[in-house]
Amino acid sequence: MNNNDIRSQFPILDVTVHGRPLVYLDNAATTQKPLRVIEALDGYYRTLNSNIHRGAHHLATEATERYETVRRQVQSFINARHHHEIVFTRGTTESINLVASSFSKRYFTGDDEVVVSGMEHHSDIVPWQLAGATLRPIPFSDEGVLDLDAYEKLFSPKTRIVAVNHVSNTLGTINPIADIIRIAHGHGVPVLIDGAQAISHIPVDVQALGCDFYCFSGHKMYGPMGVGVMYGREELLNEMPPYQGGGEMIENVTFERTTYNQLPFKFEAGTPSVGDVIGLGEAINFMQEVGVANIAAREDELLRYATSMLSQLQGIRLFGTAPHKTTVLSFLIGDAHPYDVGTLLDQLGIAVRTGHHCTQPIMDRYGIPGTVRASFAVYNTLDEVDRLFAALQRIMPMLQ
Ligand code: PLP
Repeated sequence: MNNNDIRSQFPILDVTVHGRPLVYLDNAATTQKPLRVIEALDGYYRTLNSNIHRGAHHLATEATERYETVRRQVQSFINARHHHEIVFTRGTTESINLVASSFSKRYFTGDDEVVVSGMEHHSDIVPWQLAGATLRPIPFSDEGVLDLDAYEKLFSPKTRIVAVNHVSNTLGTINPIADIIRIAHGHGVPVLIDGAQAISHIPVDVQALGCDFYCFSGHKMYGPMGVGVMYGREELLNEMPPYQGGGEMIENVTFERTTYNQLPFKFEAGTPSVGDVIGLGEAINFMQEVGVANIAAREDELLRYATSMLSQLQGIRLFGTAPHKTTVLSFLIGDAHPYDVGTLLDQLGIAVRTGHHCTQPIMDRYGIPGTVRASFAVYNTLDEVDRLFAALQRIMPMLQ
């Protein structure tokens, strides 16, 4: 599929901003949605809307079947052993909160450590703090590469779990999660992978990786907001108590005692976002049609081109120059505040993100307030990189 064919599937790319064609480079925050996802949502509410699992009528049966089909689709997409290891959530944040809350209730003893990386998103830091853990961060180099020797030394008898991101949303580093998992398992410690930034760029095989949990969001992989996935190994999920109580997650309720439903329903209390799950299924169809390897190759080209172009700008500082990276380009220009750069770029129709990107410890590590972040998706073009470069050249005199 050539780039024009891909772009034509995304209606929002035709929008103009401040009178100029939109250049959307904020894909690490959320990707845009192809027409087929938008139509799946529309079609669901026009013809299928119904609450699932408990209805005897046609719409409920059909909606249930579509919802459960997507569960199997996700299973196959990440190569999970069982479909009941796929739990639908609202997104990565809820997935990690679910694991942190439920895992800690089962396995924490009162003096507990969680090994994270120094480049985690807040959503893989705060849930563990809420669960009462002391965090042991893996340090990283100036380039943004995790120090695996230091990592090995962080294990202690108090280590309960390792929780790291597959790809850093601020630095773009692809972390060596196969090594991280192997080392943790050598210490008898399970591993959660935050795959929010990896799932749309890298083929994921949870069985080959051997991870115990893998979490991601639909909206960062061309799917709708409001849906995400928590993959967990059956053995652990069976041991862990429910996260939330309510409808669907029960087997039997009395005022004295409640027994819980089987997997995955034990972790899906209440009415799920059925339409969004169906939309996620269409997003996976889109990704598989283009091919995850093709997406990665295209984005790699964009990243390499953008890195070489932006490196030519005087006074630019790039953050995250690891040899293994995905499509995130974080930078600062001289002493200009990232927000000023972002606002000026917006005036020229270019959407980037500015700030700490929910990774304040990374900003502390470099002693900076934030960065400007351009991030690419499969529909971006080299021409858009040229527009970013030209826009930066144009605004630089205003930033002095
Ligand atoms: N983890 C990483 C690495 C992220 O980049 C993000 C979002 O930017 C999240 C977690 C949280 O994802 P969500 O807001 O979709 O729950």
